[in-house]
Amino acid sequence: MIKAVRGTRDLLPPQTDVWNFVDSTAREVFRLYNFHEIRTPVFEETQLFARSVGEETDIVSKEMYTWEDRGRAASDKGQSLTLRPENTAGVVRAYIEHKLWDRPGVQKLYYIGPQFRRERPQKGRYRQFYQIGAEIIGPPTAGSESPARDAEILEMLATLLDRLGIANWTLELNSVGCPNDRPRYYEALKEALKPVVGQMCEDCQRRATTNPLRVFDCKVPEDQPIIEKLPRISDYLDEPCRKHFAELQEILKSLDVPFTINDRLVRGLDYYTRTAFEFTHGALGAQNAILGGGRYDGLSESLGGPKAPGIGFAIGEDRVVLTLEETQGSKSAPPDVYIAPLGSGMDREVAKLGRELRTAGIIVELGDETFRLKKSLETASKLGARFALIVGENEMNTNQFAVKNLATGEQISVARSELPARITGAK
Ligand code: AMP
Repeated sequence: MIKAVRGTRDLLPPQTDVWNFVDSTAREVFRLYNFHEIRTPVFEETQLFARSVGEETDIVSKEMYTWEDRGRAASDKGQSLTLRPENTAGVVRAYIEHKLWDRPGVQKLYYIGPQFRRERPQKGRYRQFYQIGAEIIGPPTAGSESPARDAEILEMLATLLDRLGIANWTLELNSVGCPNDRPRYYEALKEALKPVVGQMCEDCQRRATTNPLRVFDCKVPEDQPIIEKLPRISDYLDEPCRKHFAELQEILKSLDVPFTINDRLVRGLDYYTRTAFEFTHGALGAQNAILGGGRYDGLSESLGGPKAPGIGFAIGEDRVVLTLEETQGSKSAPPDVYIAPLGSGMDREVAKLGRELRTAGIIVELGDETFRLKKSLETASKLGARFALIVGENEMNTNQFAVKNLATGEQISVARSELPARITGAK
């Protein structure tokens, strides 16, 4: 038997109803903050991720699904392509490619879609997973660098989680500085690593020389006491970074968005500058991050674009759905009415009646003329329909239909023209 590939899964009803609820709530909230949707391809040139996310990150060095294209045109041959492991790089590529900086103000873009990483699958961690993300990006003259944009994003996330019914989240916040304060910090970090790096894991030994900030991504338990003692980036921020971070905190306080500072939080992607954040939730166990994000003021330039500071986030939709299921359970949405055709020739009549009722906004499930009444009523009950509507020769002739309330067993006779009002009135 062929099964879904390890780390991928089928999303089935009624769970998909929860997914749709999350999607539509996100779209509604994004509109309130004047975001618009962007859809980028699910695969891109490998170089895009190597240059933005960073060669030394776990994502690029271990987790990408990469292949060499076998296109017919000479230009396609041998091109290295990758299934997107995240969507910010694609959005910024599109921003540059379509010169979106020419449009007025900042660009406020959101996306919803699958991402792919070859991670070890476990609860809340999959190889195909879904992210809902948003980005604010634009020229500095449009205000894209302001901490007010960071606050807008974080307040929007608090609103979205509230609307989804996710309570008890924690917002962890840090500033990871900028290219101006990184050299000083890296020097201190390398110095502190020198005497201890020999005791660390192989990855950390390599990171210590190539990209010391990535040492903080290490999950090896034995390395944690060493990492705990390393210098903190918060002690090395330059004045503008310090001021930016302080202002963000002030705005969040005035908006009543609660947060805690976590000066170990660096997030596993190289493009982050200044603000970095994560929302966590207790119901998720080990994989407790529901979403993460941060500022990426140099990303556009590093991809050959103009100066375009930005900030964004990605919500792990799989984890949001898990949290909702764990805290609220999932139930299937039943039809309003089950129409039971009685006897041959009635499928046609029932199709017409179904069309009328659906036009009136009623959710209709149709039976089959080969079913006996008992089978129809049992099916209607199992589906959780509120009413069964019985349609036989007799009903067609008199234009009066038997409407049975499946919860109470009560049955009334209703004229055809009255059906939509009776059924919706009882909703
Ligand atoms: P990242 O793109 O690594 O910053 O991750 C942002 C969010 O995506 C995380 O907080 C998770 O909620 C979610 N996420 C990342 N990787 C996975 C995965 N393999 N499976 C499920 N969700 C993931």
